[in-house]
Amino acid sequence: YAKAAGRNNYQYYAEPMNAAAARHFEMETRLRGALLREEFVLFYQPIVGVQDGRVHGLEVLLRWRHPEQGLVAPDDFIPILEENGLIVPVGEWVIRRACEQAMAWQRAGLPALPLAVNLSARQFMHRGLIQSIRAIVDDTGIDPGLLEFEITETALMQHGGQTLETLGQIYRMGIRLSIDDFGTGYSSLAYLKRFPVRKIKIDRAFVRDLETSSEDQAIVAAIMALAGSLGMAVVAEGVENEAQLALLRRHGCQYAQGYLFARPVDAAAVPVLLD
Ligand code: C2E
Ligand code: MG
Ligand code: MG
Ligand code: MG
Repeated sequence: YAKAAGRNNYQYYAEPMNAAAARHFEMETRLRGALLREEFVLFYQPIVGVQDGRVHGLEVLLRWRHPEQGLVAPDDFIPILEENGLIVPVGEWVIRRACEQAMAWQRAGLPALPLAVNLSARQFMHRGLIQSIRAIVDDTGIDPGLLEFEITETALMQHGGQTLETLGQIYRMGIRLSIDDFGTGYSSLAYLKRFPVRKIKIDRAFVRDLETSSEDQAIVAAIMALAGSLGMAVVAEGVENEAQLALLRRHGCQYAQGYLFARPVDAAAVPVLLD
C-alpha cells in the first residue's frame, strides 16, 4: 500500500511538469510542419506620422494559425523557433511573403508603403541571410527602398564586427534599418554611431506610463536627444491613448504605432485601413 501511495504521490507532483513538457514538445513538433502546411500568416500594423497623422509604413507581424489553439502570438512560439533554428527558414518566408504582398498591393493600385520586417538575432547572424534577401528582392521585384528591417538593440550589440559587416551589406542593397525595442538593452554609443541605421523604436515599456512617470518622460527625452544628434528618426511603440501621443509630440517624436491608431490586421483588412 505504501508503495502504491508513493507512486501516486510521485504522479501527483510530476504530472503538471510532464504536461508542460509534453505541450512544449507537441508545439515544437507542430511548428516543424507549420511552414509546409501554410499555417503561418502575416499581420500588418500601421506606423503613423505624429505630425500629419498619415500612415507612413506597416510593420509586418507573424502569427501562427494553430489548428486547435487558433491564432498564436509570436512571443509564444518565436522563442521555440529561435531555440531549434527554424527561425531561419520561417524568417525567410516572412520576408518573401511580405514582399509578395507588397507587390500585390501595388498591382491593386494601393500607395506603395514601406514594410518593416522583424529580423531575429539568430536569423541576423545566419550566413545565408544576405544571399536569401538578394534572391527575394530579385524574385519579387520589390523596390528595396520599400523594405526595412527591425533588429533589436540586444541582437545588434551581441556580435561586434560581424554585425557592422552584415548591416553594411543590407544598407548597400538600399534596404533601411531600424533598432527595435530601444532602451531595453545596453547600447554602446560608440557602436550606435557606426550603425547605418535610420530609425530607433522606443520600446512600449517606456510609453505605457508616460503620462504619470517623470522617469519615463526623462528616458523619452534622452532617446529623442540621442537620436537627433545621430540623425535618426524615432518611432514610439505601444501608443494607446491621446495623452501619450500628445507627450510624444511635445518631445518631437516623429512616428507612432499602437492600438490608438490600429491593431495589427490581416492583409485583407489593410486596404480598408488605408482608406
Ligand atoms: P515588436 O517588433 O516590438 O512588435 C511590436 C509588438 O507590440 C507587436 O506584438 C504588436 O502587436 C504590439 N503592439 C502594437 N501596438 C500595441 C499597443 O498599443 N499596445 C500593446 N500592448 N501592444 C502593442 P506581437 O505582434 O505580439 O509581436 C511580438 C514580438 O514578436 C515583436 O515585437 C517581435 O519582436 C516578434 N515578432 C513578430 N513578428 C516577427 C517576425 O516575423 N520575425 C521575428 N523574428 N520576430 C517577430
Ligand atoms: Mg518590431
Ligand atoms: Mg518593438
Ligand atoms: Mg518587442
